[in-house]
Amino acid sequence: MGLPPGVSLSAPLAEADALAIADDDLAGGDLAGAVRAAACSVRDALFGRVVTYSPKVFLPLTNLCRNHCEYCSFRRSPGDAGEWTMTPAEIEAQLVVARELGCAEALFCLGDKPEKAFSAYRHTLATLGQASTVEYLHWAGSKALAHGLLPHTNAGLLSDADMIRLKEVNVSLGLMLECASPRLCEPGMPHHRAPDKRPDKRLAMIEAAGRLRIPFTTGILVGIGETRRERVESLLAIRSAHRRHAHVQEVIVQNFRAVPGVPMSHAPEPTDDEVTWAVAMARLILDGDVSLQAPPNLNPSSAEALLASGLNDFGGISPVTPDYINPRHPWPHIDALGDACSRAGFELRPRAPIYDRYVERPGFLDPRLVAPTRDVMDRLRPSGGPS
Ligand code: SF4
Repeated sequence: MGLPPGVSLSAPLAEADALAIADDDLAGGDLAGAVRAAACSVRDALFGRVVTYSPKVFLPLTNLCRNHCEYCSFRRSPGDAGEWTMTPAEIEAQLVVARELGCAEALFCLGDKPEKAFSAYRHTLATLGQASTVEYLHWAGSKALAHGLLPHTNAGLLSDADMIRLKEVNVSLGLMLECASPRLCEPGMPHHRAPDKRPDKRLAMIEAAGRLRIPFTTGILVGIGETRRERVESLLAIRSAHRRHAHVQEVIVQNFRAVPGVPMSHAPEPTDDEVTWAVAMARLILDGDVSLQAPPNLNPSSAEALLASGLNDFGGISPVTPDYINPRHPWPHIDALGDACSRAGFELRPRAPIYDRYVERPGFLDPRLVAPTRDVMDRLRPSGGPS
């Protein structure tokens, strides 16, 4: 199979083995096939032939953001066409529809630190009677719970105090690491004008979330200029944080898609081979209690290819709202995704945005959220299934 000398594919991969595989010239050929096969064996042993997704409503509280990531079509500044901040009425209306359509998760996803950059947004918050974005998110999370949905928030970099506050109404929080290499913040690179994408800051928040016992979602971006070795280093950094705190419940491998009107609109997108190599390496690097996810809407023809690379979760899929981050790539209809899984020998099942083990683990879920979480888990369980 062309393994580098002395390298073993047994999971979880030793750091030196993972880096040797990333550096190996054969990684696009025989070795990639062996990596995918090994990742599938690991996935089958850990999760069986069940692949999950989270039925969600996507609530982009605001698309104002102080960063300028070169690949992002979501962000706006005040006054830009398409700028928005959701009103409380809009949030409630979406929550009602989401509950009617059987969603389990209210995903709050927004730009980073808008009130630090924009006085117009500070004025908007004041008009809404909110002292900060975090307080607005706290209100919105309470409303989601009242409507029978479980909040998960990704609001960019947060302080410890922010996370403690949001833990009161969120079953989990998230922050994509994206890439652990500071090279991507250099001039000419995609994060040069994105101060909140400095990897040291993001790793510090992931670490803090662990200390605060917050079930956490993070992940990497594939195809924004990073090398294979940098991808592996990012996954190893996530594994390290998880080994200290046991809080990373899932890792997302998300691929870059070129979008018109952004600085990287003509940048080459990563090939399916490159994406599935990253998925397989993630499965082999991450510990067995970490779920591995990739979004099916960014890989429209390759749900099967993702499954054949060790994936066990498709992440949040919305029957209610478009993918505001990647609006040109709608989520697949859940039935069609279920059929694709069936053809590949898998059963597609819904799940909650917090994994079962964190409901019981002391300190990870606010006691006030245990009953609502159990209600949602019961609702998602196939009738007659084990409790
Ligand atoms: S990717 Fe996130 S942080 Fe970067 S510009 Fe877009 S919204 Fe802001």
